[in-house]
Amino acid sequence: MARIAVLPGDGVGPEVVWEAMKVLKSAGGRFGIHLEFEEGIVGGAAIDRLRTPLPPETWTLCRASDAILFGAVGGPRWDSLPVDRRPERGLLTLRKDLQLYANLRPVKLFPPLIDASPLKREIVEGVDLLVLRELTGGLYFAEPKGIWPTSDGRGEQGVDTLNYTTPEIERIARVGFQIAGRRRRHLTSVDKANVLASSQLWRRVVTTMAREYPDIELDHILVDNCAMQLIREPRRFDVLLAENTFGDILSDEAAMLAGSIGMLPSASLGEGPGLYEPIHGSAPDIADQDKANPLAAILSAAMLLRHSLRQEPAAAAIEIAVLDVLEQGYRTMDIMQPGKKQVGTARMGDLVAERVVKG
Ligand code: NAD
Repeated sequence: MARIAVLPGDGVGPEVVWEAMKVLKSAGGRFGIHLEFEEGIVGGAAIDRLRTPLPPETWTLCRASDAILFGAVGGPRWDSLPVDRRPERGLLTLRKDLQLYANLRPVKLFPPLIDASPLKREIVEGVDLLVLRELTGGLYFAEPKGIWPTSDGRGEQGVDTLNYTTPEIERIARVGFQIAGRRRRHLTSVDKANVLASSQLWRRVVTTMAREYPDIELDHILVDNCAMQLIREPRRFDVLLAENTFGDILSDEAAMLAGSIGMLPSASLGEGPGLYEPIHGSAPDIADQDKANPLAAILSAAMLLRHSLRQEPAAAAIEIAVLDVLEQGYRTMDIMQPGKKQVGTARMGDLVAERVVKG
């Protein structure tokens, strides 16, 4: 029996997580996997009820679970709160406390969506890359951090610190080399070593580690050039290894290669139970309208089965079901194309769940 903590969060989070659970239940039924779901509150929903984005009971639930299925947090209602009390802090704290330092963001274009990408067919055809983002260090966490008066008393200064240590770089780079070894054996490390000291250390450590992995081709790319090459020639990439902020930005950019941010799943792995979530946010502009694409959350559920529960056949069955539903012409609003059949969030979830059961 596997215990799954379900943290729907805010905005479209609950809508897409509900569909992911539906599909997980179908996969569990077909493959004889006993799944037990328990819900916890997080983000803005938790601030409204308990005045904190990550209540202790949610934290305890996560710790005691085999995996966490997460929706999204945040929204305009909470935008005026100080940074350390905003909904997003709940997710950041969870990642940090559970030491989920490796964020896997596979970017694979489903062939039926080739014309849904804003990029030309000949650029995106065959794109299959993975952004590996360091998740617990860098600008989002390092101290000092805050806003305080300047010493000359002429206003304030906002400070974030970009700090990486050798062990932090080594542990994420190791995951990068290992994942590349299971794919096309090509690791591209992203940095800004021409300007940033943290990037110079990053490049040195990754280069040294490459000696342990002689069968992996390693190259380095500056983050600004990487942003350009992702649009110009995305097929050249296999695994992209990046620190926290660079990985955050590049993976949203890479999402457009797959047609929509609503298509991209992620897994956050490390020492605690794995956390699985779509890469998109709470999308307040389309929340509660049955418009959100649930496929990113559903594909995150497939990653949960693969990485945390080691149920590869069930994970693959979900991915095949998603492809099949897209091949049948069903589309949510964000990936809609002429001549296709537009469906809402719940119907898309039903279609995938039914297809998983049929096999
Ligand atoms: P967003 O990802 O929520 O939305 C960006 C755009 O993509 C919007 O136009 C939205 O409608 C669209 N979109 C997102 N998910 C979609 C889906 N499943 N189907 C169809 N379209 C989708 O990013 P944002 O607007 O910058 O942020 C909104 C809120 O979400 C903010 O409060 C932000 O802090 C938060 N956020 C949370 C997370 C997270 O929980 N992991 C990540 C990013 C942003």
